[in-house]
Amino acid sequence: MNRDKVKVAQIEVCETAKKMSSSGLVAGTWGNISARVDDEYMVITPSGMDYDRLFPEDMVLVNMKTFEYEGKLKPSVEVPVHAAVYLDRETVNGIVHTHSTYALTMATARKPIPPICDDQVQILGGDVRLADYTMPGSKEMAASVVEALKDRGGALIANHGAITVGRTLPEAFTASQVLEKTALIYINTQSIGGPVEISRADVEFFHDFFMTKYGQK
Ligand SMILES: [Zn+2]
Repeated sequence: MNRDKVKVAQIEVCETAKKMSSSGLVAGTWGNISARVDDEYMVITPSGMDYDRLFPEDMVLVNMKTFEYEGKLKPSVEVPVHAAVYLDRETVNGIVHTHSTYALTMATARKPIPPICDDQVQILGGDVRLADYTMPGSKEMAASVVEALKDRGGALIANHGAITVGRTLPEAFTASQVLEKTALIYINTQSIGGPVEISRADVEFFHDFFMTKYGQK
């Protein structure tokens, strides 16, 4: 494994954890963030630490196949979920998992979110599915999340929270903000007759646009 890549991943994960903590997407230390190093290793936030007091070197290097880790801090208990997603999706390089309020509201009602917002369908790729209620950090949760994330940038986890992925960690972070906002919009529209869904053709067109043409090259 390339040590320079590990350092870069540690800096990125630490910065994103602090951003997440100041953005209100997490309460306390609930939620975790990771970045891929290569086919075998990832870097993830440590378990149960105050994000504001973390340094890049506190981010834990973990083997995705054996879950062995390096250093004195224990990695997040949700390592199996992150590892399973990286092993399933080779284009995913960053993962953000939150227990944010509105996503968790939807997840607790066990309701998936249909395709309703433009930015949702662009970055998340369509409807937001619901992974089953399972023990946090278990093999079952990993399998259920991988399934719910198929061809999508985000998913809800029943009675637990949300998870988003990206080609980069900043993209996964943006996706988590978009998912949280989409959940809020869905809930708000319930009082005025419910949302109007975006057609499948438009979902495909706009997601493809985002993945291939949006932004700076
Ligand atoms: Zn969690």
